[in-house]
Amino acid sequence: MTKLPPASAMYQALVNRDTTYEGVFFVGVKTTGIFCRPTCPARKPKAENVEYFSSAGDALFAGYRPCGRCHPLDKDKQAPELVRRLCEAVEQSPSQKISDAHLRAMGIDPSTARRQFRRYYGMTFQAYSRARRMGSALHEIRRGESVIGAQIDHGFESASGFWEAFKQVFGAPPSKAGQVRCLYARWIDTPLGAMLALADNDGLHLLEFVDRRGLENEILKLRKRLKCIIVPGTNAHLDTISAELKNYFDGASASFTVPLVPAGSAFEQSVWKLLQTIPPGQTWSYSQLARKLGNPNATRAVGRANGRNCLAIVIPCHRVIRADGHLCGYGGGIWRKQWLLDHERKVTGHGEASPDLFARRTSAGTSHARR
Ligand SMILES: [Zn+2]
Repeated sequence: MTKLPPASAMYQALVNRDTTYEGVFFVGVKTTGIFCRPTCPARKPKAENVEYFSSAGDALFAGYRPCGRCHPLDKDKQAPELVRRLCEAVEQSPSQKISDAHLRAMGIDPSTARRQFRRYYGMTFQAYSRARRMGSALHEIRRGESVIGAQIDHGFESASGFWEAFKQVFGAPPSKAGQVRCLYARWIDTPLGAMLALADNDGLHLLEFVDRRGLENEILKLRKRLKCIIVPGTNAHLDTISAELKNYFDGASASFTVPLVPAGSAFEQSVWKLLQTIPPGQTWSYSQLARKLGNPNATRAVGRANGRNCLAIVIPCHRVIRADGHLCGYGGGIWRKQWLLDHERKVTGHGEASPDLFARRTSAGTSHARR
């Protein structure tokens, strides 16, 4: 869970370079785009120019790059040279994927470098570069609509470095507003980390944790299918889902009314529709779902459809477990699945859904009906 101390305490710790806060929070400096440890020796930024993160990963996905002085990702000793060079390569072009050929051209043996990277940082080089790439693209989305709204009006004439990264993930911006179909992208902070929501006037197309593996591909597929581009902003559906997620995490309500427009085959749609009938706090197995669909042999296909769900939480694929009771794969990570189930059980009282508090969603999104 991303529970942070009060901002005033963190700022005090930052100014005092308080070692007891080491690892408790990381600080992003808005004016430089760099994130630091609380004990960084560099001159301290003003309070209004910082924001806090409970993990280095959150800071990366928020678009910040690690500080070159306090090395917020490093363990106690300095990173090996090869690892440092990999990080430098990422910073040279954060919007690009770095291929093995690229590494060899730099005189780096890819497999050795990747191994060292993983041993040192405890995350793969791929995961790190993805975090930086997504992070720089998501940076503008976090800042919200005002800047971008103006840019759409002005036809994106003012090209900024950010658009390079943004384009890779979200598509080239339109030269004029109204020229192309637009999906609006909104950043939503939750106790389980940040989520990205994409919607147009039809409803919600995607809701995922920003660090989900494969998120870039999901976005790319969506863009191709809808022939749209994605711009930071908000609309009524994004306002709704934002409010409903807050209620969900506060334990006030688990019902979602935002219209959903997930893309999938007729079979996938039927699985997703069925998922929405699992009461909060309860779990079903894949085989149970298959039986309810009248196709008891389709357990595997049900599992695949479950995995293709792009609307986390609102289509509650986290309520599906293995027949032996084990939690199994979850796009957002098993720890989130466990947290969501625990949270729902706590709120509903051990899996017994109280009808008014955690009302079950009965009217599924529009596209669920047509199958
Ligand atoms: Zn620093």
